[in-house]
Amino acid sequence: MAKTASGQGDPAHGLAEAIAADRVHSAYLFAGGGDEPRDTALSFVRALACSSGLGTPCEACPACRRSTPGDPVEIDGSGKSGPLYRHVGDHPDLVWVERGAGDTRVRIGQVRALQEAFRLRGVEGGRRAAVIADAEWLNHESQNALLRILEEPPARTTLVLVTPQPAGLLATVRSRCQRVRFPVDRNGPADMQSDEALEIVARLASVGRMGVPDILDWAEEYRGPRAIAAAAVVELIGVGTQWLHSTTCEAACAGDPVDRRLAAWTTLQQCRKSVVQRNANPQMVAERALFAFQEALS
Ligand SMILES: [Zn+2]
Repeated sequence: MAKTASGQGDPAHGLAEAIAADRVHSAYLFAGGGDEPRDTALSFVRALACSSGLGTPCEACPACRRSTPGDPVEIDGSGKSGPLYRHVGDHPDLVWVERGAGDTRVRIGQVRALQEAFRLRGVEGGRRAAVIADAEWLNHESQNALLRILEEPPARTTLVLVTPQPAGLLATVRSRCQRVRFPVDRNGPADMQSDEALEIVARLASVGRMGVPDILDWAEEYRGPRAIAAAAVVELIGVGTQWLHSTTCEAACAGDPVDRRLAAWTTLQQCRKSVVQRNANPQMVAERALFAFQEALS
């Protein structure tokens, strides 16, 4: 069987079949942007706890009633103003981890708490499962902690990492996960349609004609509280990368040289890593990314 759990078909369908056939892996990587990978992860872990064995939540059994999501409890990565993770609904065996509202990363303490939750026996006797909903925000330290779970997964546990940028994860993490790819065409347009994304694209379209002062001014917009600025830079790079990708395809089809665009693409990936994993200054990273766009398009 191919490394993709779902083969060519619908990811949710492939996952439901795996549950029904009792062929569930201990770790998955859901790769794709937009809401679909996240929504699928939620439904998948609920189905793992469901006692029907149907492969999708039956919505009638006690486990499904417990795992029905309510108002989400706000997570705080430092554990000061909220929990390090939340449960799905109030199901004790289903854990949801994401970056705290004021955080620039998924913290190592959150990964350790998850590890601890997996060590306990399942309260309901079924599978225990956890989702790390924004795995692109795991830094090296957190990923190394996660490796311990991936290397020796406790019996009947399943971990799902969700990220639009699998390349941002350590190869050792990626290789231990069953990859489930979500079709880009279904997620891409939705991502590109937000007002912010459209604004970024409109501005990038003229970046080739901008002078150095214009670019420095633009990068200055990424000052201020780091968590907010870092998220904005990641959005700039994400939207810009997608846009660069489509213009590169057009240029290649038209027979134009694309080597500068490909070089920019590499620089953008490095920029992304430096802001997510190495806590680089968002404004500096934005400058580097914007100059890379300019170089590619001038
Ligand atoms: Zn059920």
